[in-house]
Amino acid sequence: MKKEQSEKLYSKAKEYFPGGVNSPVRAFRSVGGTPLFIDRGEGCYVFDADGNRYLDFCCSWGPLILGHAHSKVVEKINATVQRGTSFGAPTRLENELAELIISNNPFIEKLRFVSSGTEAVMSAIRLARAYTGKNRIIKFDGCYHGHADAMLVKAGSGLATFGISSSAGVPESVAGDTIVLPLNDEAAMEAAINKHKDDLAAVIIEPVPANNGLLLQDKSYLEFLRDITRKHNVLLIFDEVISGFRIGFTGAAGFYGIKPDILTYGKIIGGGMPVGAYGASAAIMQKISPDGNVYQGGTLSGNPVAMAAGIATLTECLKKDFYESLEKKTNTFTGILNSFAKENNLPFKVFSIGSIFWFAFSEKEKIQRADEIDSESMTKFNTLYHELLDHGIYFGPSGYEVGFISDAHTEEILSDAAKGICGMLKKTFAGSSPLRID
Ligand SMILES: *Cc1c(COP(=O)(O)O)cnc(C)c1O
Repeated sequence: MKKEQSEKLYSKAKEYFPGGVNSPVRAFRSVGGTPLFIDRGEGCYVFDADGNRYLDFCCSWGPLILGHAHSKVVEKINATVQRGTSFGAPTRLENELAELIISNNPFIEKLRFVSSGTEAVMSAIRLARAYTGKNRIIKFDGCYHGHADAMLVKAGSGLATFGISSSAGVPESVAGDTIVLPLNDEAAMEAAINKHKDDLAAVIIEPVPANNGLLLQDKSYLEFLRDITRKHNVLLIFDEVISGFRIGFTGAAGFYGIKPDILTYGKIIGGGMPVGAYGASAAIMQKISPDGNVYQGGTLSGNPVAMAAGIATLTECLKKDFYESLEKKTNTFTGILNSFAKENNLPFKVFSIGSIFWFAFSEKEKIQRADEIDSESMTKFNTLYHELLDHGIYFGPSGYEVGFISDAHTEEILSDAAKGICGMLKKTFAGSSPLRID
């Protein structure tokens, strides 16, 4: 495929932006090569600056559950933008999006719109600290919660290790209040809660961890988290920035039937525009300013154009059988690949839930913790990645990232793609296609 335009744009971009990008993973550092500069999207396809067409499994990292430039979303945005882009005053559209969400979601009574998932999580943590009067937070190795200081913490091995920042610029005093535990490990959680409960504000988890592979947790573990946090007056935060409106309209909370204390949303909620939200019971939310003393605001929060995209998107999601159809299509795709891997004895498995999937280059039946992912296996993904690109299939450029199926992906397109990928897998495992880092 021709890459001239992308290459030109990328070299220009490197003059302007660190690494040539405005979000690190876009730079293709882990797979090697030049990032595609996207010109436009249509349904399940994106077209790059050289005019190449790709079947898109990145879907803007999750938001585009309807695919690109869905007519209903475009119409609603157009109608709204004609009337002005921002007022810094309330509009009817905020009520409309909130009503769509709250009247169809038993887990929140009130919410607050912000402009990103990061902002939603950052605000939820502040709220949890204010509500409990405690400081420490437990997070999990392998869960990503955006780039707020308190969440940019990973620990080494061992139980209840105090946080060591995984980014420069995060003060030790902030990282030190974040405790990092392995996923799916009840004993580690019990020990940490017993030790820290008097100063522990919240446990935050991606109930469907999907930022470091797809580390599907046992339902019993999530129930255990609910019970132990409740018992010790610690809030449970479900970060549903990916899983919200994806694993069904009510997200992972609905899927597992577990009510956390605070939920955070992003991605799909804005239908491709910058929107995040956090929500909880009215009793917890009344702590937020101006009702309460937890300050949180935003010049562009509840932006009308962004609300319009969210309304149009969630309205489609609420249609009958929307999620059943997505899951069925996803199963067609993953089924073909998994059968092929089994028949050919390849150490490869596609994990999936709802319309999220992840390619694991592994023989394991289950992968539930970050340290169960073999980093060596990523070289296989990188080889496959360039095969995929050469065949007009676009994934997020890292083997740790999950893929997404949108409503615009049809059964036929998916089964053709899966069959094509089987051939590429064979080639990848045969080692006939060298790893290209240029
Ligand atoms: C994407 C993501 C975030 C961060 O959202 P941004 O909109 O990128 O700030 C937070 N939590 C989870 C689970 C995410 O997947």
